[in-house]
Amino acid sequence: MAKKGGAREIVALVCSVCKNQNYITERNKVNMELKNQKGSKLELKKYCSTCRKVQLHKETSKLK
Ligand SMILES: [Zn+2]
Repeated sequence: MAKKGGAREIVALVCSVCKNQNYITERNKVNMELKNQKGSKLELKKYCSTCRKVQLHKETSKLK
């Protein structure tokens, strides 16, 4: 039987400035735990259409 769920998690990326949810991504919990042993959240610089420039986006598990 194939494993369902578990390691993969869908997260939203919200702009840290305007809090707009701009991206939805899938992250692999297993990989993230290896990379992120401090337990810090995923942060990516991405373009925000609301701010009209590249902003730091932070992950959130709350999908709108
Ligand atoms: Zn923004």
